[in-house]
Amino acid sequence: MLKENLKSVEDNVENACGRAGRNRNDVTLIAVSKTKPVEMLQEIYDAGVRDFGENKVQEIIEKYDVLPKDIKWHMIGHLQRNKVKYIIDKVCLIHSVDSLRLAEEISRQAVKHELTMSILIEVNIAEEESKFGIYKEEAIQLVEQIAALPNLKICGLMTIAPYVEDPEENRLYFRNIRQLAVDIVAKNIDNVSMDILSMGMTGDYMVAIEEGATMVRVGTGIFGARNYS
Ligand SMILES: *Cc1c(COP(=O)(O)O)cnc(C)c1O
Repeated sequence: MLKENLKSVEDNVENACGRAGRNRNDVTLIAVSKTKPVEMLQEIYDAGVRDFGENKVQEIIEKYDVLPKDIKWHMIGHLQRNKVKYIIDKVCLIHSVDSLRLAEEISRQAVKHELTMSILIEVNIAEEESKFGIYKEEAIQLVEQIAALPNLKICGLMTIAPYVEDPEENRLYFRNIRQLAVDIVAKNIDNVSMDILSMGMTGDYMVAIEEGATMVRVGTGIFGARNYS
């Protein structure tokens, strides 16, 4: 069943790329596997997926240990500073950087481990109180501050759009993220690229791709509904 789910998500990604006149290779599908057992991840891995998204440090560590080492782990959830040290050498990209203090800790750990960590700035584009992320107006200043830190590379922006019945309602938010990225690029800040726009989830990834997403994070659409009980 997972393989069929994956196939239909893949088809949707390809079709959305087609509608937008984009190359399929410019969009990375991240399988969001939080709460799901490693057997299910292995099945999706065997079907060819190498990018997996998780939102809890403990879960990344456990899954990292037992699954193939060529998996690219994406930290997509809120990250506490005191836990950065556990994942700094395990993840390929931290999507959820929303403060200078968090970035400073990531930088510190990256220096310690002699690596360069790629990060995204999380933007709360709809200004929802329940969500993490900075407001659009704060983005340029934060990017400038973080860009000065060693062993970090700002690669783009991430957003979690509101939960909506009709994904069209989020189109403007995705467009605004893309515009924000354009505005940041225009600032020509050293050490900053805006190559990655991580936006779009099960409910709205096709619209996100049409509006320029380069990474979509799909959980339910691949693995089925999550059970938190
Ligand atoms: C859980 C989660 C997703 C995936 O959500 P689905 O609606 O199941 O596709 C994507 N991004 C983040 C940050 C998440 O926490």
